[in-house]
Amino acid sequence: MSDKPLYVTEPALPPFEQFEPLLRELWASHRLTNGGPYHDQLEAALAAYLAVPRVSLLANGTLALMLALKALEVEGEVITTPYSFVATTHALMWSNCTPVFADIDPLSLNLDPAAVEAAITPRTRAILAVHVYGRPCDTAGLQAVAERHGLRLIYDAAHAFGVRLDTDSLMAAGDAAILSFHATKVFHTFEGGAIVCRDEALKARIDLLRNFGFKGETRVLATGINAKMNELQAAFGCLSLGSIDGEIAARARITARYDAAFAHLPGLRLLAPLPGVTRHNHGYYPLFVEPGFALSRDALYDRLREQNIIARRYFYPLISDFDMYRAAPGADHLPVARRMADTVLCLPLYGALGDDEVSRVIDAVSAAARP
Ligand SMILES: *Cc1c(COP(=O)(O)O)cnc(C)c1O
Repeated sequence: MSDKPLYVTEPALPPFEQFEPLLRELWASHRLTNGGPYHDQLEAALAAYLAVPRVSLLANGTLALMLALKALEVEGEVITTPYSFVATTHALMWSNCTPVFADIDPLSLNLDPAAVEAAITPRTRAILAVHVYGRPCDTAGLQAVAERHGLRLIYDAAHAFGVRLDTDSLMAAGDAAILSFHATKVFHTFEGGAIVCRDEALKARIDLLRNFGFKGETRVLATGINAKMNELQAAFGCLSLGSIDGEIAARARITARYDAAFAHLPGLRLLAPLPGVTRHNHGYYPLFVEPGFALSRDALYDRLREQNIIARRYFYPLISDFDMYRAAPGADHLPVARRMADTVLCLPLYGALGDDEVSRVIDAVSAAARP
C-alpha cells in the first residue's frame, strides 16, 4: 500500500494566489453574507454560463431541493428514483412528501417515464427526477407525463452542471432544477447549491424563502429558512467558474483513456454517450461489472482498495434499501435499478489525476480482468 491513495474525486482548487485578492476585498468590505457583490456576480455568471433564465444561489443542494418543493407548494406523493444519492429522497421527507419509487431506464439510468406513469395515484403531486452522472433524463417523456396528469416536475441536476444538449440547456427542463456545489461535484463552492427556474415569480418566492421569508426590513411573508450562500463561497465560485471548462476538458481526456482501455475487457459494461448531448461534464466514471467479468463487483472493489485505489459504488445500496425507505410504495419492485446498483463501480476521475495515476487505475482493472 505504498502508492498514494487515489480517491474517486479530488476537488479542483485554483492557485491560492488567485483567491487572495478576493479575500482582501472581502476583508475590506465587511460584506460577508445576505447577498453582496460576489453573490450577485455569481448568480449572473452562472445564468450566462448555464444558459438559463434565472438562478438562485443557496447554501447547499439539499436545501435547494427542499426550497424547490416548498416554493412550488408540493405536498403529497412524489414519484422519484431509487438510483441516486440519499439526499434526493431525504429532501422529500423534510418537505412532508411521501416518496414513491419508480424504476429506471437501463440506458439513461434515470426514471423511466412509463414506470412513472404506472406509479401515479390520485395523491401524486410531483415527479422528482435525477440526471444521474449528468446523463439527461428523458425530459420530453417526463414532461408529457407531468402535463397529462397535472404534476410538478423537478429535476435534481446535482450531477448535471454544464451539460449541454443540441436543443436546449438541460438545466432549463422542468418547473425547476437544483444544483449542488458540494466539494465532490464538478463545479463546487466548498458547499453550495442553486435552483434554476424560468418563472420570475418562482425565483422571487425562492429568494424570499432562503432568507427567513423576509421582504424588506419589517415584513415576513412566509415560513422561510436560512439557506443563503455567503460571500466567501460566492467569491470562490466566481473565481473557479473561470477554470471549469479546463477541468471538464481534462476529465474528458481521462474518460477517453478509460474507455479505450476497458472497451475490450469481457464482462465490463461502459456507458455510451446519450444522443443529443453536445457536451458532457464527466463528473463520474461508472462502469458495470457484469457476470462475464473475472471478479464480482465487490471483489474488484476490494482488489482496487488493496492497491490504494478508492473506487466507490455509486449508487449502492439503492435509496429504497435504506431502512427508513424499505416500506415506501414501489420499493419492492425495482429490477433495473437493483441490477445497476449491484454491478456499478465508479473509478477515480478528476482533472488533476495524472497520466501515471490513470495508468495505475487502468493497469489494476486490466490485471483483475485476467482470471
Ligand atoms: C450531492 C447531491 C445532492 C446533495 O447536495 P448537497 O449540496 O451535498 O446538499 C443531492 N442530490 C444528488 C444527486 C447529489 O449527488
